[in-house]
Amino acid sequence: MARQFFVGGNFKMNGTQKDLKAIVENLNNAQLDSNAEVVIAPPALYLDFVKQNLNKSTVEVAAQNVFNKPNGAFTGEISASQLQDLGIKWTILGHSERRNELGESDEFVASKTKYALDNGISVIWCCGESKDTRQAGETIKFVENQLAALAKQISESDWKNVVVAYEPIWAIGTGLVATKEQAQEVHAAIRSWLKQNVSDKVAQETRILYGGSVNAKNCKDLAKEEDIDGFLVGGASLKPEFVEIINSKQ
Ligand code: PEP
Repeated sequence: MARQFFVGGNFKMNGTQKDLKAIVENLNNAQLDSNAEVVIAPPALYLDFVKQNLNKSTVEVAAQNVFNKPNGAFTGEISASQLQDLGIKWTILGHSERRNELGESDEFVASKTKYALDNGISVIWCCGESKDTRQAGETIKFVENQLAALAKQISESDWKNVVVAYEPIWAIGTGLVATKEQAQEVHAAIRSWLKQNVSDKVAQETRILYGGSVNAKNCKDLAKEEDIDGFLVGGASLKPEFVEIINSKQ
């Protein structure tokens, strides 16, 4: 089964209503590859605003985070049922900025992923190594450990609603994109790990995105790699060139 090309836009903590309206209008007016699944993740405060302004059926809205408990006394968090209430079907989880800045462990990210999936929210689950880990030659082992922590908490059938985003930390927001060979090597290792530890079906069907300084210039080459099924884009998703990244398979 061919895997549908997937492009996520992670707006992070950027944008006002005016900025986001311009970004959404750019997407509304663009000719987007109808074969590409597109998901944009504005700050939580603007999820509904972005959803209301979007009029492209191939573009969905995602949260950047969701908690692992139902509604209640969890100050500052948002719940899966609140996302459902707004018609939001996706969330990003495990972004390295949350893992590193907010101390989210592999286990905590996995428990939030399980909770989101159990409550009808699909997950863009992020993984990826630091520069030190890469220089120590431990990239694959590191990513496999992150995968193992996730696989421990979710079932085989849960994987159909998970998109994996491989995002080397040294490439995020630095302008230092991984080479297509570096990215393909890790993507192939992730697929092989899924085959050995989950199932052949999950390995074949799970989309594996690359993230880290993707832009209009480097996306076409990366998109040609066998195991790169799309991108998670930060900085460039705020710019008009996001359209070229969405269309990079055309
Ligand atoms: C990201 O934060 O998910 C990301 C990939 O950022 P950038 O594209 O800016 O490197």
